[in-house]
Formats: sequence, C-alpha cells, structure tokens
Amino acid sequence: MLILTCPCCGVTGEETEFHQGGEAHLKRFGPGASDDDFHTYMFAKENPKGVHFERWRHNNGCGKWFHAARDTVTLEVYGTYPAQTLEPPQNIRDAITAKRPGWTWRDFA
Ligand SMILES: [Zn+2]
Repeated sequence: MLILTCPCCGVTGEETEFHQGGEAHLKRFGPGASDDDFHTYMFAKENPKGVHFERWRHNNGCGKWFHAARDTVTLEVYGTYPAQTLEPPQNIRDAITAKRPGWTWRDFA
C-alpha cells in the first residue's frame, strides 16, 4: 500500500484517498511549438524502474494537486511537495541520493 502525505493540508493517507495524475515536471510547449516537441510532451513518458516523480491530487481531502517522489519498485515515498514547485526540493533529492547512491535526475532548469 502506498502511503502519501498531502503537503497542502498535512493529511497522511492510503493511496485510495488520492488520485494519480501522471508524470510530474513535464515541459509544456506553447503555440508555435514543433510537432516533435508536442509529440514528446504527449507521448514520451518516463516509466522508470526506480525513482519517479508524479502528480497526485488529494481528491478525498483538500482537493489540491501536489507532486510526489517515490520508488516504483519498493513504493517508498521520498517526499511530497506543492505542485507549483518547478523542481524537486533539495531535501527530497538528498533523501533519494541517500537511498540510491549515484542516482541522477534530469535537468529541471
Ligand atoms: Zn490535502
């Protein structure tokens, strides 16, 4: 069972209290973007065996969206943070690196 803590209201609950909303930190493209950029945005999703950043909604609580960093193998949640955050907070990156030395994440800049 996946246990998440909503960073917006502080409630901790089972995954059934939340709704998964796909990959987090997708780069969106505006009008005039190339077909390749739009294709990448729509269809090229990560499906890692390991650390993954996801969007979640607290649908049986405050209703707000947030991001979660978790391990798809162990279901360990490294942390959750507000959806308005453009890149994972340093404390979450440190928690991931402590569990998975040598792990790297893509450049969110
Ligand atoms: Zn909440």
